[in-house]
Amino acid sequence: MSNFSHNCPHCGTKKSGFRILANEILLKESYIGSGRTTQKQILACFCKCTTCSEVCIARFQIKDSTDFNQNFIEAALHNGSFARLFQVTSFIPQPESIAVIEGISERVRSSLENAEQCFVAKLAPPAGAMYRTALERATLELGCNPKDPLFKRIQSLSSSLPETLIKLLDNVRIFGNQSVHGNDDDPSLEDITRAREFALLFLTYTFELPEKIAAVEKRLSRD
Ligand SMILES: [Zn+2]
Repeated sequence: MSNFSHNCPHCGTKKSGFRILANEILLKESYIGSGRTTQKQILACFCKCTTCSEVCIARFQIKDSTDFNQNFIEAALHNGSFARLFQVTSFIPQPESIAVIEGISERVRSSLENAEQCFVAKLAPPAGAMYRTALERATLELGCNPKDPLFKRIQSLSSSLPETLIKLLDNVRIFGNQSVHGNDDDPSLEDITRAREFALLFLTYTFELPEKIAAVEKRLSRD
């Protein structure tokens, strides 16, 4: 039986159930001025996701600011009122956040956003396919021939991009291919984590940085 619900940072399940395995009441001291301090009770819990069985640490505070003790917590856990009485104030680990790159077109941004949402939800194959699409769209904006396959487009960028970046891009292409080709095994989440890192690096280097540099130059020329 779960005690409260929260988005799981491990399996990505929205509002997954969590079961509290152990808890401890902590006192948080805050300075309120003129040498005075105030103390607030914090409840730290070691809990387990009922979807994936991975563990997390959650901190809670009581919603109506009354004092509580161990018996009160045990009773709340026992009679099912815990989620109504306590609210989460922090959760460890934090779920992966969605990356936002500046300076990219609406078309690239939309496929990147889809890729990021799949990545955060730990859906490796669709994330891989969407990072590849973002890359494909970005190459078109860099003037690559739309009739060329992605492999050829990436190679044609070798005169304007560092060699390492070309190699990284080719990896995004390969992981993306694995995601959509029925004969290949699905890419793992580790593969897609790397593909994501490479795709974000490429988009930052190619679109975001030049835009930021141009903005700084513009500001300098005004001063
Ligand atoms: Zn989970």
